[in-house]
Amino acid sequence: MSLSKAQIARYSRQLVLPEVGVAGQQRLLASSVLVVGAGGLGSPAALYLAAAGVGRLGVLDSDTVALSNLHRQILHVTADVGRPKAQSAQERLRALNPETAITAIHERLTAVNARELIQGYDLVLDGSDNFPTRYLVNDTCMLLGKPLVHGGVVQFGGQALTVLPRRGACFRCVFPEPPKAGAIPSCQEAGVVGAAAGVLGSLMAHEALKVLLGVGEPLIGRLVVFDGKASRFREVPVRRDPACAVCGEAPTIHEPVAVDEPVCGEPAKEAAWHASKSH
Ligand SMILES: [Zn+2]
Repeated sequence: MSLSKAQIARYSRQLVLPEVGVAGQQRLLASSVLVVGAGGLGSPAALYLAAAGVGRLGVLDSDTVALSNLHRQILHVTADVGRPKAQSAQERLRALNPETAITAIHERLTAVNARELIQGYDLVLDGSDNFPTRYLVNDTCMLLGKPLVHGGVVQFGGQALTVLPRRGACFRCVFPEPPKAGAIPSCQEAGVVGAAAGVLGSLMAHEALKVLLGVGEPLIGRLVVFDGKASRFREVPVRRDPACAVCGEAPTIHEPVAVDEPVCGEPAKEAAWHASKSH
């Protein structure tokens, strides 16, 4: 497969990088990423992945666009308010790069559909805003052997971690148990700076591209914490836990399981989550 004239022009500034080149571009065009959450992290991440020429993107989000999303969720515009986020994301990404095949998945990830939804992609980028989804994404990726880029953002800062199954710590190795209900403030309660979500979401896309290209040193075993007030990044070394319930020596999780903790203390989402588990 050779690149067309238009592809050479579109990707020229990354084609000149020796680490990318034609072979790397072809690798990206043949790759696929599932973006979980078309919100503050998923928006910049999906835009950069589509722009870079990742061949196939799935965008999974069960929410609709609200006016209060727009200061950070840059996939959506004012006219999208009230529409499914997966749908407006698909339109925006198609407009940016018609060569990328975009699948809009207007669904909530559950223990029942996680395996099926995730297995068709090369890598998963988790920009979800709640702990049940984070654990479900992590566990399913570990069970399927899928690379995962995790990220989180709240107020001025956030964190990111890349997980290659059986190489370095997974999300559950680092955080074995979900936090207690209300222990972690939600974006709604604590607030979030839109550009801070952009920093973390861009870092996540950057990590995903590195893993897909096989270049550089991904954030494996290194949780990067962004202190947005000081504009400082620091690294927390994280180790694989031999007692991890999903990637340890004697795992107890063999199938995707629902995590019971309520969602980030957000009453509406918590109710929706419990409703989604009951059928
Ligand atoms: Zn683990």
